[in-house]
Amino acid sequence: MNWVQWNDRLVKDEEIQLSKEDRGYQFGDGIYEVIRVYNGSMFTAKEHINRLYESAEKIKLVIPYTKDVFHKMMYDLIEANEVTTGQVYVQITRGSSPRQHQFPIEAVEPVLTAYTKEVDRPVSQMANGVAAKTIEDVRWLRCDIKSLNLLGNIMAKQEAHESGCFEAILHRGDTITEGSSSNMYGIKDGVLYTHPATNLILNGITRRVILACCEEIGLPVVEQPMSLSTVYANDEFFMSSTTSEIMPIVVIDGMPIGTGLPGEWTKKLQTAFEAKIEQAVHA
Ligand SMILES: *Cc1c(COP(=O)(O)O)cnc(C)c1O
Repeated sequence: MNWVQWNDRLVKDEEIQLSKEDRGYQFGDGIYEVIRVYNGSMFTAKEHINRLYESAEKIKLVIPYTKDVFHKMMYDLIEANEVTTGQVYVQITRGSSPRQHQFPIEAVEPVLTAYTKEVDRPVSQMANGVAAKTIEDVRWLRCDIKSLNLLGNIMAKQEAHESGCFEAILHRGDTITEGSSSNMYGIKDGVLYTHPATNLILNGITRRVILACCEEIGLPVVEQPMSLSTVYANDEFFMSSTTSEIMPIVVIDGMPIGTGLPGEWTKKLQTAFEAKIEQAVHA
């Protein structure tokens, strides 16, 4: 089924009416989230909802629902669409008003749009690993906001895609930040390195689960930027996101990483992550 949450209503796709002067459409003036659904239930829903409200606050957008009401809206949408394994996409824009850069003078209602999709877990890619390409990170300096403005991200992803790669590894000069829509990790001599959660990256919910998994399996973590100049010397490399989970990167810029196969620590993390999914599904 194909219900869409449009503001406070569940409607059919064709009932949605979006304004030509919606600020999301004209300026990318809004924020979004992607939440995983496993076996009909949302994974780490609270964390995603908290992050959405944090992103909103950072752009001075007031979401007109309490977190509990919002959570129930997403839950009802998933139920209405009978999603099993998939995702919810939700975005909120600052609303519609005559085009001008500054915020609308008169308060306008934000516009919420949410829909669901069946998405399989990328099992074969997770087992075999993917290739990535290093690309200069030319985005703005508030990458901690999950903003609808994604030009820097999509230009990098397109370039990676045109090179036959699954993801872009973004770097500012010699500093590796993150992926176009994922976080990046290297493992060298039994230590995991990943960029700290500063303004230069989006602090992934998957990233937070992974750091907890590292603790469980006894893999030391150093939240410190990785250097581009030594990226090929990693023993293992992987990326993470809500839809890609823990995705081994076995080739960077055409160079094999480690053995050229998903590494042992990466596989242990995948197992630990899977246990968290199982726990959540049966909670
Ligand atoms: C969403 C996103 C991530 C991954 O976050 P998750 O919560 O793990 O899905 C990483 N980087 C960017 C730029 C993102 O937009």
